[in-house]
Amino acid sequence: MKILVINCGSSSLKYQLFNMDNEEVMVKGLVERIGIDGSRLIQEKGDDKYTVEEDMKDHTEAVGHVFDALVDSENGVIKSLSEIDAVGHRFVHGGEKITKSSLIDEEVREAIEEYTKFAPLHNPANLMGLEACEKLLAGVPNVAVFDTAFHQTMPEKTFLYGIDYKYYEEDAIRKYGFHGTSHNFITNKTAEILGKDVKDLNIISCHLGNGSSITAVKNGKSYDTSMGLTPLEGLIMGTRSGDIDPAAITYIMQHKIISANDMENILNKESGVLGVSGVSSDFRDLEAAAKEGNKRAQYALDMFITRTKRYIAGYMAEIGSADAIVFTGGIGENSIDMRKEIMDGFQQFGIEIDEEKNKVRGGAHIVSKDDSKVKIMVVATNEELMIARDTKSIVEA
Ligand code: AMP
Repeated sequence: MKILVINCGSSSLKYQLFNMDNEEVMVKGLVERIGIDGSRLIQEKGDDKYTVEEDMKDHTEAVGHVFDALVDSENGVIKSLSEIDAVGHRFVHGGEKITKSSLIDEEVREAIEEYTKFAPLHNPANLMGLEACEKLLAGVPNVAVFDTAFHQTMPEKTFLYGIDYKYYEEDAIRKYGFHGTSHNFITNKTAEILGKDVKDLNIISCHLGNGSSITAVKNGKSYDTSMGLTPLEGLIMGTRSGDIDPAAITYIMQHKIISANDMENILNKESGVLGVSGVSSDFRDLEAAAKEGNKRAQYALDMFITRTKRYIAGYMAEIGSADAIVFTGGIGENSIDMRKEIMDGFQQFGIEIDEEKNKVRGGAHIVSKDDSKVKIMVVATNEELMIARDTKSIVEA
């Protein structure tokens, strides 16, 4: 079975074609600058790169170019589009209506449209990708896999906000959580590595990248997570503020005369480690700047480390006992220093990283000392494979 996985952003589209007989990635690619001058598609097949530079005014045109690249006689991997058995789409927000990956039907479509209010940039872009596939690949099933779905198992005590309950009842204001596909993948992969039934697995899943979130997984299910109504809450991120006193926001808005829309933009795009450091949103740049003595870069790194510790420790107390603390995402998988710094201080609870074992990037490794009370692990995430797996099982059912 061949499954195409599509992840549409507002001006970009990432794709991977999987042969699900062996879960091999046949080809993957990226379309950038959709609807902007200089649109281009870059497709990678092993070490070979194929680039198409042509105007693509919308997602339908971009998907058309993806299909052309897939069947291209020299650079493609399939002879005909009829070889594609199903398409799995990444959707960001399914709210409370969507609790699992779903074949697209009217109900799913309504939920996507309803929760566009909380994901105004993402849900419409994801929908454009879906509509392009429906148009150009008629008759092929489309499955939606939601970032929020994995977190629908959270109890009220972790998902409600401390505001008048009417805002939850009337406006659905609550914590939804994101990166669910990644946390779900990490949960299943960790259970497999530790040889445990996923239903018995308790972990702290730390997805640390440009966007970062931590999830407390209890009995294989999301119990609490650091992102909220939107992906702005929680850890300090590349350009997102993460947790902040709401009064700081209203103060800034009142005193600098900033509109709600502009403030949202500032908190999402001009804050986080970029805002604090004034250097970059990229952790490699920050580490380099801090080494050269840039104080603000060091503050940004220290804030990231402090907040990550706070969430890990808090979540461990929430779930009672943890089998592992698992690091994933660009930073979690690759930054040896960050993992070491984040875990420093946990020795008092008998949890200790092994500095030698920690010298790894990606893959799947246990990096704690043999006698550590809770294992510390590095597990590379694979959201696209998770989407392909869900799509396969739904289409087969
Ligand atoms: P992601 O959003 O998961 O792709 O993660 C992107 C982040 O991972 C960026 O901030 C990168 O700087 C960071 N990253 C990637 N490789 C490394 C590395 N070797 N050391 C530190 N940070 C890294």
